[in-house]
Amino acid sequence: MTQESNARDAEVAEFRAAVLAKLTYSVGKDPEHAFEHDWFEAVALAARDHMVEHWMDHTRRAYRRSQKRVYYLSLEFLIGRLLYDSLSNLGLLDIAREAIAELGVDLERIRLLEPDAALGNGGLGRLAACFMESMSTLGIAAHGYGIRYEHGLFRQALVDGWQQEQTENWLDFGNPWEFERPEVIYPISFGGGVETLTDSNGEQRQVWTPGETVRAVAYDTPVVGWRGSSVNTLRLWRARALEELHLERFNAGDHLGAVAEVARAESISRVLYPADSTEAGQELRLRQEYFFVCASLQDLLRRHLNMHDNLLNLPDAAAIQLNDTHPSIAVAELMRLLVDQHEIPWDKAWEITVGTLAYTNHTLLPEALETWPVALMERMLPRHMQIIYLINAYHIDSLRAQGQHDFDVLRAVSLIEEDNGRRVRMGNLAFLGSHSVNGVSALHSKLMKSTVFAELHKLYPQRINNKTNGITFRRWLFQANPMLTRMLTDRLGEQLLDSPQTLLKNLEPFAEHEDFRQQFAAQRLHSKKALASIIQERVGVTVNPEAMFDVQVKRIHEYKRQLLNLLHTVALYQAIRSEPSGNWAPRVKVFAGKAAASYHQAKLIIKLTNDIARVVNNDPTVRGLLKVVFLPNYNVSLAESIIPAADLSEQISTAGYEASGTSNMKFALNGALTIGTLDGANVEMCEQVGADNMFIFGLTAQQVQARKRADDFGAGAALSASHRLNDVFQAIRGGVFSPDDPSRYSGFMDALVGYDRFLVCADFDAYWDAQQRVDELWNQPDQWWRMAVLNTARMGWFSSDRTIAEYAGEIWNALD
Ligand SMILES: *Cc1c(COP(=O)(O)O)cnc(C)c1O
Repeated sequence: MTQESNARDAEVAEFRAAVLAKLTYSVGKDPEHAFEHDWFEAVALAARDHMVEHWMDHTRRAYRRSQKRVYYLSLEFLIGRLLYDSLSNLGLLDIAREAIAELGVDLERIRLLEPDAALGNGGLGRLAACFMESMSTLGIAAHGYGIRYEHGLFRQALVDGWQQEQTENWLDFGNPWEFERPEVIYPISFGGGVETLTDSNGEQRQVWTPGETVRAVAYDTPVVGWRGSSVNTLRLWRARALEELHLERFNAGDHLGAVAEVARAESISRVLYPADSTEAGQELRLRQEYFFVCASLQDLLRRHLNMHDNLLNLPDAAAIQLNDTHPSIAVAELMRLLVDQHEIPWDKAWEITVGTLAYTNHTLLPEALETWPVALMERMLPRHMQIIYLINAYHIDSLRAQGQHDFDVLRAVSLIEEDNGRRVRMGNLAFLGSHSVNGVSALHSKLMKSTVFAELHKLYPQRINNKTNGITFRRWLFQANPMLTRMLTDRLGEQLLDSPQTLLKNLEPFAEHEDFRQQFAAQRLHSKKALASIIQERVGVTVNPEAMFDVQVKRIHEYKRQLLNLLHTVALYQAIRSEPSGNWAPRVKVFAGKAAASYHQAKLIIKLTNDIARVVNNDPTVRGLLKVVFLPNYNVSLAESIIPAADLSEQISTAGYEASGTSNMKFALNGALTIGTLDGANVEMCEQVGADNMFIFGLTAQQVQARKRADDFGAGAALSASHRLNDVFQAIRGGVFSPDDPSRYSGFMDALVGYDRFLVCADFDAYWDAQQRVDELWNQPDQWWRMAVLNTARMGWFSSDRTIAEYAGEIWNALD
């Protein structure tokens, strides 16, 4: 036996012993009687031990070298499962598989028992998770800060085709990855009032006397980078009451009243994104935002003061990135801590705040930009409201001093919106309080300058910059698609795993190799068969794995235009019916995604998808040439099964509305071809992979803006110009897909004729033509697979390692 295989055998034996020890002493089970879930927990705990060693090394190193700290504040981290992530990054995946196989335990099976940590809604939360992994891989001393929601994003069930939200319970069986830190606790206050007092130096000070205080308790999850290089901390806060039980009330017989305060305090970290259609829901959301910002800032200032004499050099030692406006109250909170608690003069405090904070914008949709009623702010955070008024006053005064008296300009850049009840504009607050404001794709960053932040951009022309999103290849290639990964390393060498960003392009010549293209197609077929059985199992539809898998999976939103895809589906259905013996490329249309609980139109689109599916899938004239599937409960794990099985990736948002998109990147990296608009990061994908290797169609962002200026949103012209579109409309409107309730979609379709806000009809013909090109190409497999290989080969730039290196170099100054 070689020395190498001896060492490996020893590692396997060691891991097996560790798993058995965890099972016995931590889980408290005997191997004879352990359930599969017990094995999952034992393996996770054994893996966690490996991380902890690296973790402590890394933490010590960061202190010793006084590395600049990066703090990533995000209300969402859409993590998914962690078992493969951890084992794979530690280089233990095969070792663990072998180690437990000899105990009769199958790693593939137990991995499925881990619930998804769904502490996010979609792209924004998934980005935060990819960034955490990349920051560890690049050796940046980073901390993620967020909320440890007891219930993550709702579980989506389908009842008669309608979405139903069910409570998600990811913590039911505990969470083996986290460490509770009962000693890391901070008070978080709300309400009360502010008094002006004169201190012993004769200075006037504002003193906030809160009406209510809760506690934030830390829970730490280690995040390991590729090859275990370094391990950072994701610190999530849980809300607890100051007193767990009001003993006097309890003893007086008021058993419920005695815990009422506990319930109120703990509701802060109870659930992700509570419905904000009610006033109580809005108030809870603001409490969540302030809660985690306040705890995180106290924590990071304490860490700073452990290493430095004072806070004056904070911008040199720490960078705080705000993921969207959700943490933007940090501007006022940091000012409050510096001025009120640390007695730093206002101007200096402002310099420190702006020097430390940076803000990432994720949307141009006006209705998605947060604003809070002034009255609510005054009631919940009275001192912060004062600080915001002060920031605004200095800001407006300095503009007037520069000669700016244009009322419209001053109104646009103010922190207070006066138009519909007085509200605080959190986007403007984040912009003013940050030294960097970035968009997430080139197009999005450009549009920020001409739309939402047009006036602020004129005042601070250096502030807006672009950091195009990326994805971690460890999860979205290595783990999601091990078969493709092996094919790539066979051709390009194991080094590919360490530098896919630069080495992936060496795959290009293989696009010309017939045998490689066939191998590529074989991997796809393998993944499609696996997805076909998931489809069979979950929705009971039989699909042909040889058909083209045409996939649109993402949150359901009107701007993402699932409706456009459905119109094409119906048009295709009608075309097949009118020419059943035509040479149709067989297709499976796969949809998945959740709709916000209060978003009526999005829920109707889910119902329409299922209505269309029922009719199409059961029509014998279609002979299986077209199948429509809506897979319920889209989440990270489902994405990992769907993406390697996709032939065609639908990225068809109205141009100018999708800030970046990241599923577009996941699909193309795995070799799917994209049909899409010139929106978000599609534009840069097009530059990288070449317009010849994508199916681009539709209005450009500029054309969409021109329509907006002309207020040209009627669909009448498009409908009368297109027989095909008109037929589709009549069918849906008239109840062809809803015979049980023929008028279910008439109101919806009629409204669209009058006001087609997302220009679905305007883009329909162009979309149909692009889909025709897709069909033609599908019938030329050599061309199809050549393009597919080139897509994978040219996606290296979209690694989140590249994105993070840009943040570190250009915003955080955190590269050493
Ligand atoms: C990547 C991802 C998203 C983002 O998808 P987009 O198409 O970019 O909106 C949303 N949800 C999950 C589970 C993801 O993995």
